[in-house]
Amino acid sequence: AKCGADGNFSKGEIVPFGPIALSPSAGVLNYGQGLFEGLKAYRKANGSVLLFRPEENAIRMINGSDRMCMPAPTVEQFVDAVKQTVLANKRWVPPTGKGSLYIRPLLIGSGAILGLAPAPEYTFLIYVSPVGNYFKEGLAPINLIIEDNFHRAAPGGTGGVKTIGNYASVLKAQRTAKEKGYSDVLYLDAVHNKYLEEVSSCNIFVVKGNTISTPAIEGTILPGITRKSIIEVAKSKGYKVEECPVSVDELLDADEVFCTGTAVVVSPVGSITYLGKRVEYDGNQGVGVVSQQLYTSLTSLQMGLAEDRMGWTVHLN
Ligand code: PMP
Repeated sequence: AKCGADGNFSKGEIVPFGPIALSPSAGVLNYGQGLFEGLKAYRKANGSVLLFRPEENAIRMINGSDRMCMPAPTVEQFVDAVKQTVLANKRWVPPTGKGSLYIRPLLIGSGAILGLAPAPEYTFLIYVSPVGNYFKEGLAPINLIIEDNFHRAAPGGTGGVKTIGNYASVLKAQRTAKEKGYSDVLYLDAVHNKYLEEVSSCNIFVVKGNTISTPAIEGTILPGITRKSIIEVAKSKGYKVEECPVSVDELLDADEVFCTGTAVVVSPVGSITYLGKRVEYDGNQGVGVVSQQLYTSLTSLQMGLAEDRMGWTVHLN
């Protein structure tokens, strides 16, 4: 669907996957006016398909669109477009337990603009792709490195919204970490270089006794929908959950550490390397009991295996 600066989107249509035409001076290509989302559709054993909290993705895109000076589809338009795209591609949703259909909504400044200013026209599109389980054997611990000479976001910047440029800026840090054999980078805050922020594409949680802490949302980390959901699930299981500044010292002293995100779901952290020192979280071969419990609770909701008392799932027929 397309719209002008007024934000009145045209009715969308389902078209085969393929290239889209853009002016060389499109806002997105020159000034990075782009926002995306990511969510998954799972297939239930009876063949029906379900979505997890799609309206949360719509709200996050709307919040981000203000920061990026872009109009956005309404929650209703967004969710309806996601549903229609998934239904049109239902045959690509893998069988239960064999993965999911990844859904990528994208909002771009598609209009031509030469001087630095918001684009005069916007395009909202959605594409989908089947994806396997992130880890073949379910849960597997990941090894993170704190790269304190790279930062992902600074106060007043765009770290809190899902804009395309944030991902360009992490590529080098991520490649450096992978070359050294780590799974990903854990970023610290840019002001004190001391408080945890997040990983390139997931949020982080630290467990100590019965308390689970995660960095507060203050504009420099992405407000993850898995993060928000895990906070509620953990509280319902009797854990004390704190959203607050979490220092590196607390991280290195934790009983368990795990990451959350649409792609990784809940991923236990097996080790953290900081200033050349490696700290290992033993757990049960790196999979702590809390991570395991929250992973099981969340995935059974997402896959429609448990009763959804939270009203988080949207069932498509
Ligand atoms: N942080 C970043 C930087 C991300 O890209 C993502 C993935 N969207 C997340 C956290 C996790 O967010 P969610 O749980 O909504 O997938």
